[in-house]
Amino acid sequence: MTKNPPQLIIFRMFKSKGKLSYLILTLIILTSLIFVKINDLRPKSDANSTASESNSVLGESLQEKVSPISITATISAQKWVPSNTITYKGDNLLVLINKKIGLPPNYEPSDLVFVAGTLRLRKGAANAYSNMVSAAAREGIPLVISSAYRSYTDQQNTFNYWVSKSGSQQAQTFSAFPGHSQHQLGTAVDFTLAGGSSFFSESFGQTAQGSWLSNNASRFGFVLSYPKGKESITGYIYEPWHYRYIGVENAKRLASSGLCLEEFLQRYGVW
Ligand SMILES: [Zn+2]
Repeated sequence: MTKNPPQLIIFRMFKSKGKLSYLILTLIILTSLIFVKINDLRPKSDANSTASESNSVLGESLQEKVSPISITATISAQKWVPSNTITYKGDNLLVLINKKIGLPPNYEPSDLVFVAGTLRLRKGAANAYSNMVSAAAREGIPLVISSAYRSYTDQQNTFNYWVSKSGSQQAQTFSAFPGHSQHQLGTAVDFTLAGGSSFFSESFGQTAQGSWLSNNASRFGFVLSYPKGKESITGYIYEPWHYRYIGVENAKRLASSGLCLEEFLQRYGVW
């Protein structure tokens, strides 16, 4: 006995059942077409997806310049953030500054005040900083900073210095391209140990200062920008010494969100 090919069986089935089968078949095709159309018309799940799609080419050109750790960050963040963007919203405490979004060279906050020696922060950040230093001192913890506001020119010098010390690939995992440093905002600080020179090491997190900051800084509106385990998202190594002021309320929201600062600003920040 020869078996009928499957398509012939289907044809015979429809033929035997007559008009009802054709009607059902037509209904199935029409339903499928309507479903496809509805999916086309449905708004995209996030407002930035269209912009980021059109920027993927720019993202590729940036990837060529950055180290492997940053490439991962570029890919994971591409869903949200356009590449090679200059933001003019530096005054906003929730402005997103990262490897792809930078400030214009001439951006300087208008309310910088001195906090320690020649180091400057924006007024709000400076007040919060001095309250935090006093609170830590009352608990016997001396907080010292080695860096605060950095101009675009300062960043050029810093970045070039680290490139000369560590090479370009390595430098990019902990030092920002000029214009891409949170320090240009006048709200970021690098802590160090009292009496010592800069202490840029993971082990700062285990010192009394690092541990106090980790537990208390958010009460004063300061948050850790580059936490451990988020390197592929931030594009930076774990920097237990680098904190950024975003205000007490925002710091609370950040803590309850469970996100790192980069993720939080991609969602709730501006650029
Ligand atoms: Zn820093």
